[in-house]
Amino acid sequence: MSRSTRTGQRSPHVADSHDLIRVHGARVNNLKDVTVEIPKRRLTVFTGVSGSGKSSLVFSTIAAESQRMINETYSAFVQGFMPTLARPEADLLENLTTAIIVDQERMGANPRSTVGTATDANALLRILFSRLGKPHIGSPNAYSFNVPSVKASGAITIERGNKKTVKATFNQTGGMCPRCEGRGAINDIDLTQLYDETKSLAEGAITVPGYNPDGWTVRYFTASGFLDADKPIRKYTKRELHDFLYKEPTKVKIENTNITYEGLVPRIQKSFLSKDKEAMQPHIRAFVERAVTFTTCPDCDGTRLSEAARSSKISGKSIADLCAMEIRDLAEWVRKLQQPTVAPLLATLQHTLDSFVEIGLGYLSLDRPAGTLSGGEAQRTKLIRHLGSALTDVTYVFDEPTIGLHPHDIQQMNDLLLRLRDKGNTVLVVEHKPETIAIADHVIDLGPGAGSDGGTITYQGPLAGLRKSGTLTGRHLDDRATLKPEVRTPTGTLEIRGATTHNLQHVDVDIPLGVLCVITGVAGSGKSSLLHGSLPTDAGVITVDQTPIRGSRRSNPATYTGLLDPIRKAFAKANNVKPALFSPNSEGACPACNGAGVIYTDLGIMAGITTTCEECDGHRFQTAVLDYHLAGHNISDVLAMSVAQAHHFFTTGDATTPAAHTILTRLHDVGLGYLKLGQPLTTLSGGERQRLKLATHMADKGGIYLLDEPTTGLHLADVEQLLTLLDRLVDTGKSVLVIEHHQAVMAHADWLIDLGPGAGHDGGRIIYQGTPADLVTNPTTLTGKHLAEYVTR
Ligand code: ADP
Ligand code: ADP
Ligand code: ZN
Ligand code: ZN
Repeated sequence: MSRSTRTGQRSPHVADSHDLIRVHGARVNNLKDVTVEIPKRRLTVFTGVSGSGKSSLVFSTIAAESQRMINETYSAFVQGFMPTLARPEADLLENLTTAIIVDQERMGANPRSTVGTATDANALLRILFSRLGKPHIGSPNAYSFNVPSVKASGAITIERGNKKTVKATFNQTGGMCPRCEGRGAINDIDLTQLYDETKSLAEGAITVPGYNPDGWTVRYFTASGFLDADKPIRKYTKRELHDFLYKEPTKVKIENTNITYEGLVPRIQKSFLSKDKEAMQPHIRAFVERAVTFTTCPDCDGTRLSEAARSSKISGKSIADLCAMEIRDLAEWVRKLQQPTVAPLLATLQHTLDSFVEIGLGYLSLDRPAGTLSGGEAQRTKLIRHLGSALTDVTYVFDEPTIGLHPHDIQQMNDLLLRLRDKGNTVLVVEHKPETIAIADHVIDLGPGAGSDGGTITYQGPLAGLRKSGTLTGRHLDDRATLKPEVRTPTGTLEIRGATTHNLQHVDVDIPLGVLCVITGVAGSGKSSLLHGSLPTDAGVITVDQTPIRGSRRSNPATYTGLLDPIRKAFAKANNVKPALFSPNSEGACPACNGAGVIYTDLGIMAGITTTCEECDGHRFQTAVLDYHLAGHNISDVLAMSVAQAHHFFTTGDATTPAAHTILTRLHDVGLGYLKLGQPLTTLSGGERQRLKLATHMADKGGIYLLDEPTTGLHLADVEQLLTLLDRLVDTGKSVLVIEHHQAVMAHADWLIDLGPGAGHDGGRIIYQGTPADLVTNPTTLTGKHLAEYVTR
């Protein structure tokens, strides 16, 4: 296979103990007195089944201690604003260097952040335009869509002895489009979705969910004094219609209470649009999708920039034009720009743009909203800053950097990891893919199982030793898939015609139903655009992806899956009290932390910090609630159980609860047996979130399941179990569509749809559709070539 020709293995210097990061007796989460020595300035890969303790060691012990030590170097004054971080539980942590975590956290929901602003590329372009742009319109800020134009003047009074007045003018020219305030889009509410104009308010004219004619939400309008409850909306005067829909906040008295009245549209904007769609109830989400459309801002044409900012050009291109280009094309454009006066600036810009291309992101554009990047793309984008960094002797920590990468792209990522190492950095990588494990100088394997069955080091040393070690990872390292002798016959097809989302080039494709269909192609070829952007909306597709599950900090697997309901009822019945006592967001909650078990401190620009609540010691409940027991355990004990433990508990003796058992079985089936019921959702990885969603949706009626890299976070040994689960879904009559790079999943498909041949404008076409066997026999595409080398025949 075209796996690394350059493994670049270096044998760690064992002689000098200063060249080792030493961890002795680590006990964070499930770690059982773990002792490891990690060679500095080498590439170490951490392996082990999911839940074995890799993150607990790498992120929660090593990186966390490094972060804590950096915080301690701040002045006492600054530290006064930061909660004291607890030292990770370990006997010894020695020779750490500054840790930089490059993870897959998506790059925030801030709609103002783009690929260009998240890296230094936009800042560099703005300086370039302020120097060379014609006409000259001002400083670099004049080209920034995040800086508004403000002109103000006024008098400032300074009281010092005699009163004195100082005239001041304030003048700032930013490049923000005033219409959309630099967002590039404006939202439009479709009024026909809000009310039925033939009816009066009393007859139920308002068609927004939750607005019942006899409820408070409608009385608010009818009793406001501005509107006639019995007049059909169609007969409203201009004034009335304005007061109904748009009236600005006004104090009124309704039923002897002073309240602030405002029109329906701003009310809806506040109550529906500020919320996360994922967290909404389905009928409300459906309403929002019907009623609100985001349209490109007509003034700036989506560029976010003011007219002045767009008028200034270099060689006929505005900064908006450049930001819309694919980065690899922009890199070539900049290379041709010969301007000795700004040579150093151009060199830095060139370097940044070239880094995008080298890292396999040349198909992105700088104006791409950062929030639309996939986890893998976000991780690689964050890496750009570090590639150009002059820092050395840093510890870089990666969480599955190959996510979202086709086997063909993995080589590039490997080269980057090696480059960081060769600059004199220590590189720690949590990874499951054999292609990346293969380039490790040093391997640390955790296990043998997950949760309390894991947390020990099963192997540490060079790769060759891992193969011989007999550990689960060692045994599966050279796994190869076999093609199925027979594939299933589709029960129907889902037609996509003329799809043009993003880079798709008028794609016509029939997606087979009732089978396991795998979509493949290099990163950026258009897989997500096809499945997330082009499937008919009425096809009943259930999307099971890795996006964060937002909600409160009190959300955990028990609340998210609905498991807490039967559990609360079982506790209530056993103790003859109200079920509500046992939910951490109700009256039984600890008043200090409101049932979160932790206190969250928002540090503004820095990442927030959570500390265990001192009042309840992390138990979330008032002490009185903890006195109620079910088969000898209180509710806090139950929330501390793993899925596997709870599965046993709720099928035994007095605790037997069939409804809980059903949900726990599903969680177990998706490979989350090690997960604690009360673990905050915010601490789950992308792969765990996806499997949690899959478990929750398994009982849904819908017919088509769409999964995005479900092998994320899965050990080689667990891929088999995932395939069994996918088979089970198909065998119960569901259609399963999977975007996947794992070749064992491709080999197991009934049907493959391969997109490409390249990324961005070089992709967006179907280059193969058919069975895996036919592709392997005649490997016409990159996917085919890799798959042919991978499968055993
Ligand atoms: P891996 O990275 O190998 O998948 P983790 O280190 O994430 O494993 O998890 C090891 C064990 O610690 C698991 O049982 C997991 O449920 C538990 N765990 C991980 N993070 C937390 C947390 N923030 N709070 C409580 N338990 C946790
Ligand atoms: P894949 O899923 O195969 O990695 P994508 O469908 O994510 O590929 O991307 C295909 C092309 O569409 C790329 O050029 C990408 O930059 C572009 N693209 C994807 N999502 C968006 C988006 N939200 N806005 C603009 N362009 C996008
Ligand atoms: Zn605009
Ligand atoms: Zn508390």
